[in-house]
Amino acid sequence: MMFTTHMDLALEEARAAASRGEVPVGAVIVGPNGAVLATAGNRTREDCDPTGHAEILAMRAACARIGSERLVGCDLYVTLEPCPMCASAISQARIARVYYGASDPKSGGVAQGPRVFAHPQSHHVPEVYDGIASVECKALLKAFFAERR
Ligand SMILES: [Zn+2]
Repeated sequence: MMFTTHMDLALEEARAAASRGEVPVGAVIVGPNGAVLATAGNRTREDCDPTGHAEILAMRAACARIGSERLVGCDLYVTLEPCPMCASAISQARIARVYYGASDPKSGGVAQGPRVFAHPQSHHVPEVYDGIASVECKALLKAFFAERR
C-alpha cells in the first residue's frame, strides 16, 4: 500500500487551535482502511481541561465513532511529539502507528523524558515515525510562542 501522509490535516487542526488561542497542536486518527476517523486540535483552555490535548480529543472522538475503547490498526498523526499522558493513552488505545512532526524537548514523552513506550509497563508499543513535516510543525509553534512574549 502506498503511504499517504495526513500531516497536512493535522497542521490544519494545529492552525485552528492557534486561532482559538490554544497551543497549536493538531492530531488525526486514520482507520485501518485509510479513512480519517477523527481530527482535533488542543482545547485545554476552551474546555478548562488539562487533558484536552489534540491526541486525547482525537482518540476519544475516534473511539466514540467506532464504538470501541481501542483503536486497533489505526494510525495517529500529530504535529508535536506526544507528552507522557498522551503516549500512555496511545498505548492503552492500541494505536498501531504514530507519526509526529516536531520533537518536544520540554514536554515530550516518546523520544525523550520518560520515553513511555520503552518501559516494560507499556503493554502495547506502536511503531513511531518522527520528523514528519517537522519544519512546518516547528514553525507554527515558534510563531505562536513568539507572539505571546
Ligand atoms: Zn499530550
